[in-house]
Amino acid sequence: MATNRTLTMIKPDAVRNGHIGGILEQMVGSGFKIIAMKYTKLSKEKAGEFYAVHKERPFYGELVDFMSSGPIVAAVLEKDNAVEDFRTLIGSTNPAEAAPGTIRAKYATSIGENAVHGSDSDENAALEASFHFAATEIFA
Ligand code: UDP
Ligand code: MG
Repeated sequence: MATNRTLTMIKPDAVRNGHIGGILEQMVGSGFKIIAMKYTKLSKEKAGEFYAVHKERPFYGELVDFMSSGPIVAAVLEKDNAVEDFRTLIGSTNPAEAAPGTIRAKYATSIGENAVHGSDSDENAALEASFHFAATEIFA
């Protein structure tokens, strides 16, 4: 996979709170092109698999429960320097520390329920894209 892609999820809190449209508008308006997208729901098992790297962390159980608590929007986004620029756009994990105007500053409610996911490396972006999408579902 090219290194100009990242994987995002609009998490169950933001979907429940009616923020799909606002968040997608901010992503696209910031120069990210949607090359794959689906409205879906993670089972507990799939949420646990997606966040397996955090298995030993104290928040893992809550994270898995939260991420499987309702529908999400998963998308692959394309832009130069996608991973880093998207992390800047979403802001810090803890919305209390997220820069003003970032997606998490605007839409997140807590460090756990923080509205969106963004990949942390090109390697994980590729793994996470293939977690959610078949190659035939990505339109570069
Ligand atoms: N998380 C949490 N408590 C914490 C840290 C993280 O509930 O103290 C959740 C939160 O939803 C976060 C996810 O676990 O987005 C993954 O954590 P990570 O450190 O990878 O943050 P991110 O990459 O999402 O900013
Ligand atoms: Mg992370």
